[in-house]
Amino acid sequence: MKLFNEPSPLETRIISFRFGLENSASIDTYLAHDGYKALRKALEMTPDDVINEVKASNLRGRGGAGFPTGLKWSFVPRASEKPKYIVVNADESEPGTCKDRLLIQNDPHQLIEGILLGAIAVGAKKGWIYIRGEYNYLIAIMDKAIAEAYKNGFLGKNICGTEFEFDLYTHTGAGAYECGEESALLESLEGKRGVPRIRPPFPAISGAFQSPTLLNNVETFSSVPAILRMGGTAYSDLGVPKSGGTRMVCMSGHVNRPGVYEVPLGFPMMKFVNEIGGGVWKGRQLKAIIPGGSSSPLLRAEECDIPMDYDSIAKAGSMLGSGGLMVMDETTDMVKLALRIMRFYQHESCGWCIPCREGTTWLKKMLQRVTDGHGQARDIDLIGDLAQNMRGRTFCPLGDAAAMPTIAIVKKYRNEFEAYVAKNPFAASELVSIS
Ligand code: SF4
Repeated sequence: MKLFNEPSPLETRIISFRFGLENSASIDTYLAHDGYKALRKALEMTPDDVINEVKASNLRGRGGAGFPTGLKWSFVPRASEKPKYIVVNADESEPGTCKDRLLIQNDPHQLIEGILLGAIAVGAKKGWIYIRGEYNYLIAIMDKAIAEAYKNGFLGKNICGTEFEFDLYTHTGAGAYECGEESALLESLEGKRGVPRIRPPFPAISGAFQSPTLLNNVETFSSVPAILRMGGTAYSDLGVPKSGGTRMVCMSGHVNRPGVYEVPLGFPMMKFVNEIGGGVWKGRQLKAIIPGGSSSPLLRAEECDIPMDYDSIAKAGSMLGSGGLMVMDETTDMVKLALRIMRFYQHESCGWCIPCREGTTWLKKMLQRVTDGHGQARDIDLIGDLAQNMRGRTFCPLGDAAAMPTIAIVKKYRNEFEAYVAKNPFAASELVSIS
């Protein structure tokens, strides 16, 4: 199995620098390339010093929300009568995103070390890596690395000859997008149906088994060893203010060199597509980019000349999200794209709340009707209105994830919806009358 695309000289490989080394997943390779140095350093620091270093790095959660990681770590109470836990979200399910898979395949010890640093920071002694069902082939890789870490004294009791102890386990999900939402993930981890919890309390206060829990995704934990090694400020300086360090970005779609590339936050989006990705395939023109996984609103070609960092993409009306950048050429049918995206979210809706369960179902039906050539002119506004009314009214972010791309596509490519409706002989006159 090919574990990684060819690297680009334009990358800044901080957490992917071991990718491509022989036996990169083994502990011997890890130890020969800075492995567990950050752990030894952290064991001589106070928990607050570790958290302060992460705060100084300006690392923001790489799972999608982009919440400041150091701040999140500081929310876990110092004193607790209950045990504290670490949970790793390896339920990477956002369409267009496949970086956590590579981080586990190529460098599982980096993830283990990041987890241990989190455990030192919050005082946890036990943790789980929750791996999505479709990634079950990663379990063997992760379990092998965990066994190596136990054997070499990096897990278990008296880690590195100190009093620090930590036990780590893998846990497989059943393959549900919803279990990427942190509270649904915790329900699933506890053996229940994976539906979200009412929050607050947030996991830092009451997470796994009602205990304080530090929950981050794979890329976030994997970034921490480098932060401790190089120092939080030096890591932050790789990126831009408020978006420190580097980001693994998964480039897919109509591009010549798709792959997962590590670049500093703030790297220009068009340079990423044209120079690292080799430009739009088949000599065609760029039509649009989805910058952060299918739930992020797409940007028209003329809106893509921006830096790739959280704030710049938000200012352009979208999100860096999970780092799943999808390129679409001039031939892309935007109505069919909206339908394809909605099919996914309708299928993955857990059905817990009405706006999402019914909203995604009806959006899918209406989009299908339009692409089948049976759409009426009023359907276009109805699709936009329904999506707008779902936004902010669902129990968890999946409702927004379904609504936001739909709103953007209807708004930016209304002419393509109208072209479909115009082909319906029973709707054409209505379309003319409102235009
Ligand atoms: Fe379930 Fe959708 Fe409601 Fe989330 S928004 S709780 S996925 S029905």
